[in-house]
Order: sequence, then C-alpha cells, then structure tokens
Amino acid sequence: MAKVPYKTYLTEEEIPKQWYNIRADMKEQHDPFLNPGTLQPITTEDLYPIFARELCKQEMDAETRYVDIPDGVLEFYRMFRPSPLIRAYNLEKALDTPAKIYYKFEGNNTSGSHKLNAAAAMAYYAKEEGLTSLTTETGAGQWGTALSQACAFYGLDLTVFMVKVSFEQKPFRKSVMETYGAKIIPSPSDTTEVGRAILAKDPTTGGSLGCAISEAIEKSLGDESCRYALGSVLNQVLLHQSVIGLESKIAMEKIGEYPDIVVGCAGGGSNLGGLMAAFMQDKLTGRHNSRFVAVEPASCPSMTRGRYAYDFCDTGKITPLAKMYTLGSQFIPSPNHAGGLRYHGMSPILSKLYHDGYMEAISAEQTRVFDAATLFCKREQILPAPESAHAIYGAVQEALKCREAGEAKTILFGLTGTGYFDMHAYAQYNDGTMSDYIPTDEDLQRGFDSLPKVE
Ligand SMILES: *Cc1c(COP(=O)(O)O)cnc(C)c1O
Repeated sequence: MAKVPYKTYLTEEEIPKQWYNIRADMKEQHDPFLNPGTLQPITTEDLYPIFARELCKQEMDAETRYVDIPDGVLEFYRMFRPSPLIRAYNLEKALDTPAKIYYKFEGNNTSGSHKLNAAAAMAYYAKEEGLTSLTTETGAGQWGTALSQACAFYGLDLTVFMVKVSFEQKPFRKSVMETYGAKIIPSPSDTTEVGRAILAKDPTTGGSLGCAISEAIEKSLGDESCRYALGSVLNQVLLHQSVIGLESKIAMEKIGEYPDIVVGCAGGGSNLGGLMAAFMQDKLTGRHNSRFVAVEPASCPSMTRGRYAYDFCDTGKITPLAKMYTLGSQFIPSPNHAGGLRYHGMSPILSKLYHDGYMEAISAEQTRVFDAATLFCKREQILPAPESAHAIYGAVQEALKCREAGEAKTILFGLTGTGYFDMHAYAQYNDGTMSDYIPTDEDLQRGFDSLPKVE
C-alpha cells in the first residue's frame, strides 16, 4: 500500500480564496455583545470607533457563509502559505499507537505562529480605509510580532502594549517588533489613564492581557486615524483563521483522510476555531461526526472551570460585554505559569459550541505539557511553542487511548508555532524548577466576583 507522504503541501493556486464563517452554519448564535452601560445589544456602528469598518461588519455577520479574501491579503498569504500538513510518523512510533497523527504547522514565519493570518487581514483593511496607525496588546509576543510584520508591509504605524512579565522575560521579542518598525510599551504603563489606575492599585503588577487590551483601546480612541486590533477571541479573527482548516481539509482529501478527532490548544480560541471550522461545518450539517478537543492550561482553565457568563473582554472594563466562558476579567494567572494561553475568557463562538455540546475541553498541567513538547521536538524535529505543546499533549492523550482500545483513529492537531523565544520556560523545565500551580476554588471565586451583574 502506498504510504501517505510525511508532508502534504497544497500549491499556491490551492490556497483558499474565501474564508469560511462558521456562524452561518451554527444552529444557534452566541448571545449578542452588550453595551456595558445600557446592557442593550451593540450595533455594527457602535464598533466603528474601535476597529476598521470592514472588520466591524465581519464581527457582526452571522449570515455570510464564505467571505472573499481580498487580493491584497492573498498576496501576503502567498509569502508563507500554504502551510504543510505533516504526518507524525515518528511520534506515532514513539507512542506505539495505531492512531494516525497529523498536524498542521503554522509556525513558518517570523511571528512563529498562526497569528499572521489575522494580522494581514486587519492591517490590510485598516490601510484600505485610509487609517494611518493601529494599537494592540501582546502577551507572549507572537501577536505583536505578527501585527508588526503586517503593519510594516501595508504601511501603518503600530504601538504594542506588551504584558510586563513577558516584556521582561523576552527582551528579543521587543527587538524583533522594533525591527519591523513598531513601538513597544510595557503594560501597565503610565501612558494611559487605565494603566495609571492599575499601577496605583498595584505598582508591582506584572500585568495581564486584559490590562494591555484596555491600554491599547484607550490609546486608539484618542486618535481619529487610529484603530485597535485584537489577535484572538473575536469572530473576525476566527473567520481569518479559518484558512488553516480549509487548507487542512483539502490536503487531507488529497491523501484520502478525514480526522476523527481535531485537537487544538485554546487561549482565546482563534487557532482551534480556525482549524476546526471546516470540519465543524460537516458536523453541524450532519456529514461527519468528528470530535473536537480544546486543550487549556490548568492554571488558566476558562472552559473547564470557568463560568458561562457575560463579561468584559479587558481588565479596565471598557469593552462591550461578551457571553463566554470566563474566569472573570480581573483574573490574573499565577506568575509561575510559563506557557501563554493566559487570557481570562474564550471566543464567544467556541464558548457557544462547547456549551451546546459540539466540542470537549480538557486542561493540562504545565510540566505535563512540557513533557509532550520535549517528546515532540525529539521525534518530529520542531521545537514547539508552549502554547502549541498543549495541543501536542491532547493529541498524545488521544493516541494513547487508541493504543489501549486498539483503534486506528485519525487525529489532526494544530501545531500553532515555534518556541524559540520561550527558552526561559524550557530552561525551568530542564533544570527541574518548573512547578504546577493550579488555582484553588477560592482563587477562581475572586475572579468570578468581578463578573458584571447582567440579567
Ligand atoms: C496566540 C497563540 C496561541 C493561542 O491563541 P488562540 O487564539 O487560542 O489560538 C496558540 N499558539 C500560539 C503559537 C500562539 O501564538
């Protein structure tokens, strides 16, 4: 029997020319975003001060099934797409599993992550509209890098508020973003009102994504030709990331495969949402019945231990309210958590699908995640981002279940990126100083106490 190749590439012509909007096939929509003042559903126009207009429309569009990818974005995609679909033969062998493991590798660009798929779209639409600058936040640094790349390409200025702990742990991330021309400010900073308020309460805070988001939005609101861009969580981001799953599906068709199980790490939900969308469409329309598994850190367990509730998307409480799985906008993961995926909430689309039983979620302690990362880098020769290693962990668990049951299931997971800037975390793991902090119920309760009272 002909062996499936290690790598299946599409041709450049086969890069999808449309994104897929999963909302068009969902049986029920997520609850509407609410204005925090009036608790009324927001309109597309309400978002115009925050995001580029085309992105506001995409954010609110639950009907258009396929959205044309503009030529100006496709031109950018061709520099790093299509991304390969890789058969993890050597990982399978190491696990002694009958399962077939495939991964879609999105790390082959400077950001070292899938984030460039959305960054390209956001910078493109902002430029088309005549805006001159964007602001954003970054945690681990991949999103800030991706948006720096896209802004440099399309010709926009960019200010990045970078969570202070990562700013200190990853000085070279700053240099990379500066190389692309971005301005980097550690957050919380004294350059915004919300940053100053947070610093006044806790001058030694290492910051959080939620806090950096508040600062970035505040800065963009002060400038008519500037907008804000967010790299995860939002519906528009899941739309742009759908290119991952569309490509995966075409590649798997070429080799006569279809995934029984789709696994992804989940921070705000964008890579998993993008990887699974084309396959979830088949589930929603009754053509296939794959399982979908989100893997999150045990130290920031929004789906597995969070509440399904309306919450702010940022710490400073200036964003619209979203109904999502959340740990509360004031939740800050333990500083000993090393591996990204630190956001307090989860994509409203993923939250809804999870709530309605279309997908599953598990959590993993970070030392187990780094076990999976080291096994993977030795067998498959790519040193994964700690975030991506959560997906590896999930895929390994499924493959081991197949070994127990003697079942040759087909597993597809998203290898979102590379971990070269995460050597601080790898060093801790290697010298045995990495520990697992799992929040207690009391810790989580403090976050839940910050949930806005809606209803
Ligand atoms: C940002 C990031 C993630 C997590 O974000 P999602 O929106 O949940 O996809 C995962 N992996 C890498 C490499 C990232 O940069």
